[in-house]
Amino acid sequence: MRSFGSGRGDFKAETESEIAAAQDQAMQTKHYATKVLNTETDSKCRLCQQLDKTIDHIISACQIMAKEQYIKRHDRVSAQLHFNICKETGVQLDKNHWYERVPKSVETAQGGKVTILWNQQVQSDRAIPNNKPDIIILIMKRECVC
Ligand SMILES: [Zn+2]
Repeated sequence: MRSFGSGRGDFKAETESEIAAAQDQAMQTKHYATKVLNTETDSKCRLCQQLDKTIDHIISACQIMAKEQYIKRHDRVSAQLHFNICKETGVQLDKNHWYERVPKSVETAQGGKVTILWNQQVQSDRAIPNNKPDIIILIMKRECVC
């Protein structure tokens, strides 16, 4: 079963069509043109020239794109998520759109009850590799000290 967006028309019909084609491995990749359509003879990725240019290869397995493009994509998705979290929690935003804004390392809202951290290292008692989550949300809860 496929699901695109929230069902509120988040994507144009053309975009949904492209997503469906990608999921069905039916996009016009060099692999598809070589193996299915027989219109090309070379199915290798033009960037790395090592593996077949399949949808999976383009999306997440090309060693050349892994160095920069996949990180940029990850950071853009995280920045949009960060923007939406800030908006939902009441952080004063200086921009109207997520793509206009660079996330700040520390954001606060609700009189300091909510803190949102961006790419901050987590202090821990033992060494944890990659202990720098993209987003950390801290919510102070009032506790009764009776
Ligand atoms: Zn490649």
